[in-house]
Amino acid sequence: MPFKTSTTARLALHTLIGSNEALSTKTREFMPNAKYNLTLPNKSKLEHPGASLARIAPRQYHPEMNSRFSRHVDRDEIVAIVSELVRHDTTNPPGNEHLCKEIVTKCMRSLGMEISYYEKEPGRTNVVGRIGSGDRSIGFVSHMDVVPPGERDQWNTPPFEPTIAAGRIYGRGTLDDKGSFACAYSVCKAFTAEHPDFDGTIYLIAAADEETGSELGIIYLVEECGIRFDVAIIPDGGRMDLSIYGEKGILWVEITSLGIQAHGSTPELGRNAIIPLAELIAQMKSLDLGAQYDHAFDGWTMNIGTIQGGSSANTVPSRARATIDFRLPAGITKEQVLAAIDAKASLVRAASPQAEFSMSVLHETEPHLSDKNSVIIRSFDQAARRLGLPMKYETFGGNTVAKNLFFAGITSVVHYPGDDKLAHVPNEFVIIDELAVGSVLYAETLESYFFD
Ligand SMILES: [Zn+2]
Repeated sequence: MPFKTSTTARLALHTLIGSNEALSTKTREFMPNAKYNLTLPNKSKLEHPGASLARIAPRQYHPEMNSRFSRHVDRDEIVAIVSELVRHDTTNPPGNEHLCKEIVTKCMRSLGMEISYYEKEPGRTNVVGRIGSGDRSIGFVSHMDVVPPGERDQWNTPPFEPTIAAGRIYGRGTLDDKGSFACAYSVCKAFTAEHPDFDGTIYLIAAADEETGSELGIIYLVEECGIRFDVAIIPDGGRMDLSIYGEKGILWVEITSLGIQAHGSTPELGRNAIIPLAELIAQMKSLDLGAQYDHAFDGWTMNIGTIQGGSSANTVPSRARATIDFRLPAGITKEQVLAAIDAKASLVRAASPQAEFSMSVLHETEPHLSDKNSVIIRSFDQAARRLGLPMKYETFGGNTVAKNLFFAGITSVVHYPGDDKLAHVPNEFVIIDELAVGSVLYAETLESYFFD
């Protein structure tokens, strides 16, 4: 059946880097030519399910060597940029993307870009670099905010202290999406080195607020600041061998259960709000939204993400709340989901007539599918073929800024120089080799886009 329970990507990274193991921590100032003594990858460490590099070919995987752009890709510089960005805690909320402004500016300035800053709210800085003046334009959009690190004891290394081991950089944001920014910078550098007089315009964007909906980020840039390009590359989803051309819609529903407060010693005088909510949540396990949807998507998902209620053990709770995250393919509507929840609430009320629920929608986006024949996806595919990189095209339940751009009329390629299963988890890491391969892959994409 299409229903899939949400599974937290559980990656037993602690088995890979034991806490006793000596790790080389390289967190020096960003210097373009800084040299790092990278620990050499050892085979057992690379053969991890999260390491897409290892999945394609365990060792000696350097397809970028088939490209003349590769000689402009400087791994040490990439590592230095990622490390410096990760050291600045831009957990959103609150964001504080301004902390990355200087580093990003330095990168853009070194490429001779024209740089602009946009802030819808103080401290929530978007940095936009632009190079070239031709009509054809393309944007690289990465984001500077990161999700919270979560439980610290799940991390083997401090999340905001980049740690280099086994050819990887560990830390919150190393992949999502600071590694992607370093990669996009490296692309612009390689491409403009080979084509200093290209006829077109490239935007390199370090956006704010992606992790909580982009209202202060790409939506603001496109809708209020007049930033515009024909197509985009979004290094923020998928995997080295997987590009994402469609994204499900999101629907966040909050269910509130109302009761009557009373003293914990006299529960018969009140009405407990938690119990009917618990019953409703138990009912949700068998929620069925059917299979009438666009099968370019793999189905719908549901995650009961939060539950809150009560104020103390000795008080009958008068209010309890749960929030649920649905990811919906085209063909399953919000109304359908709300009606299905309502039917479950009716079942609870049939057994407990005093149960009282209300529902509200906290957030929603529409599903979208990009045209696989669009010029940017074709250019990307050509580039992958040229490098001999296997590439699949799929849809997923995540939302990237590609969705915002799609509804603004801009088609994107979504692809990670890494693996999106490693985003938002403890011990997030990026494989340095993959940032280098991504640099060349996207530079080749630019070449196809501007010259073919
Ligand atoms: Zn991201």
